[in-house]
Amino acid sequence: HDEEAAARAAAVNADTGAPTIFDKIIAKEIPASVVYEDQKVLAFRDINPQAPVHVLVIPKSRDGLTELGKAEQRHEDILGHLLYAAKIVAEKEGIVDGFRVVINSGPSACQSVYHLHLHVLGGRQLKWPAG
Ligand code: 5GP
Repeated sequence: HDEEAAARAAAVNADTGAPTIFDKIIAKEIPASVVYEDQKVLAFRDINPQAPVHVLVIPKSRDGLTELGKAEQRHEDILGHLLYAAKIVAEKEGIVDGFRVVINSGPSACQSVYHLHLHVLGGRQLKWPAG
């Protein structure tokens, strides 16, 4: 069953605060296809795209933001910055007329990488509700 497999995979990936693969992408130790970058955020193509455009937007400094469910008031500025960066990505990718931004937070949402990230999805007709 796909759902059970996803749930199992997510459960073993619960938040431990350990470094993630995204630290290596930020440090350019492993390659990524960067779409947008500024002082605070990095946006790069997802390695397993779920739509013709599938870009991840992440804070360069995780600063405790392993998952949205652990956000604190001090994160307000970076959270706003990430959302605005998602719009810039949508514009750059030519999907600003119709796109979706998703944040999976925690095992029940199948979060697999515990460094907060926005998924920017588009380039096809998206269905609703999401699974
Ligand atoms: P989550 O499931 O945590 O919301 O999303 C994590 C995303 O990171 C997944 O869509 C997965 O495909 C992507 N991902 C995992 N490892 C890598 C990687 O090494 N490079 C890139 N570009 N994306 C990755």
